[in-house]
Amino acid sequence: MAESWEKIAIGATDRVFVLTGAGISAESGLATFRGAGGLWEGHRVEEVASPYAWQRDPEMVWRFYSMRRKAASAAAPNAAHYALAELEGVLGERLFLCTQNVDNLHERSGSRRVLHMHGELFQSRCDHCGGEAFADTRLYETAAEHARCDCGGRIRPDIVWFGEVPYHMERISAELEQCTVMLVVGTSGVVQPAASFVRWARQRGAGSAVVRSYYVGPEHPANAGDFTQVFEGKAGEVLPQILATDGE
Ligand SMILES: [Zn+2]
Repeated sequence: MAESWEKIAIGATDRVFVLTGAGISAESGLATFRGAGGLWEGHRVEEVASPYAWQRDPEMVWRFYSMRRKAASAAAPNAAHYALAELEGVLGERLFLCTQNVDNLHERSGSRRVLHMHGELFQSRCDHCGGEAFADTRLYETAAEHARCDCGGRIRPDIVWFGEVPYHMERISAELEQCTVMLVVGTSGVVQPAASFVRWARQRGAGSAVVRSYYVGPEHPANAGDFTQVFEGKAGEVLPQILATDGE
């Protein structure tokens, strides 16, 4: 029998910070490349998604991201993505959606304002001149297909690799300062700095409103003690219930 969960209270003045991670995409069939069985062609993801790998073997790196572009294109958003898009429809700018995921499933479910702290799978940029990232759905499966920037630099995936600094941290910390509800979906509380967001939100200065924090995902989170409530279950089953927007 499926479990049922109570709707969480979101009031007219609440500001909701949502952080999503690999778990929400995994429910759409996208591999997380972490933990047991997370290898790609025998490599750990850390050996493919790094500046060192890019220097040493850009062809391997582009084969990995081309495969992921194909997989993401073939995947569809699930009920959890749709529940968050609907919530944005209700809350407007009082909802801030920050994702660790590089796929575009949030956008494809209707979310309009998504902040990708680890970059975007369907964007590329020059590895040399600091030019703007651009939309790119191409596959680069052989070195002959690789593209060059006008400056001579190589076009790389617009992904934040291991050892690189996540994007938009100023905006993220400003949003953490003002949120009153924090919702963490499908991220186990291990990957920094995201794992600390809930603690930052709750520890900020005296006088601010109390932050209620919720975790949703099938795995018990490493930082369970930081949450007001933990919903252990699939995001696609839990979110539509706890965020039910009908009748309002
Ligand atoms: Zn360039």
